[in-house]
Amino acid sequence: MTISFKQIEEKLKTEAKRLLESGQASVVLAYGKGYDEKHPMPYVARNPSDVANIVFNEYCNYNMARYLVRYPAGTKIAVAVKAADSRAVIQLIQEEKVKREDLVLLGIPVYGMKNPKTQEIIDGKTTGGLYNPVLYDILLGDEVHGQAIQSPYDVLAAYELMDKEARFAFWKKEFDKCIRCYACRKACPMCYCDPCFIDQNKPKWGDKSPQSHGNLMYHLTRFHHLAGRCIDCGECSRACPVDIPLYLFHKKVAKECEEMFGQAAGMSIEDKPALVNFRVDDSDKILE
Ligand code: SF4
Ligand code: SF4
Repeated sequence: MTISFKQIEEKLKTEAKRLLESGQASVVLAYGKGYDEKHPMPYVARNPSDVANIVFNEYCNYNMARYLVRYPAGTKIAVAVKAADSRAVIQLIQEEKVKREDLVLLGIPVYGMKNPKTQEIIDGKTTGGLYNPVLYDILLGDEVHGQAIQSPYDVLAAYELMDKEARFAFWKKEFDKCIRCYACRKACPMCYCDPCFIDQNKPKWGDKSPQSHGNLMYHLTRFHHLAGRCIDCGECSRACPVDIPLYLFHKKVAKECEEMFGQAAGMSIEDKPALVNFRVDDSDKILE
């Protein structure tokens, strides 16, 4: 089975136009033309004529669920979702940030997505072993079957061999590169706090300048906030201008949470977020 990106693009345009014309959606969140084909952009179509600008190719990595929380409650939104993006939508529904009935999910079954910086195929790193959206209303292509299913945690092997001191040294070196541009936060569908703790002055939780200790504070707090919530889209890592492998930390935390609470983030709208849901059989390991 080969993926026809062009066919997905055509279906995306057709459905977006139909939903806008019928009033079933007042905005469609999808991908638009960028300055070249490797750099498509997040795109909002508001009128049927806007859909001519919609594109879809192997570089459309953006997690469009990121933009759902920007619209007032009750806005009817159609959103293009690949596998990980659909998990973000589910997680946002669990967290009561959006309502299922306000959304039309345009599911995109796909593999072979690429990082425009490196040309690397990112499926193994960022799809959580999934190629089909977990939840959708309209599927814009045939379900993907027959692709190798990789564990989302395979890429952790080398990292997990490090002892505590080596891990600390690894992250210290990486975080010392951080310029505090906050692109990781901006790209993340689960980073929606307004204001973010690091932007607050009263109380002031951490230093905002790109210094070693402040960087550590920002990242460790962000990692904690995303525990049990990160849906493994990898957008934070790809957005980072200095290539800090943030996905490694998020995956490690996700793995621990899955082992402790028996659920991965964003897999079912029936689930409750792992860290806000108490069950008597919960593992005590979190207290260690
Ligand atoms: S922390 Fe990174 S990988 Fe996880 S949901 Fe946010 S952007 Fe995606
Ligand atoms: S995107 Fe990279 S450089 Fe920017 S704040 Fe995040 S980790 Fe730091």
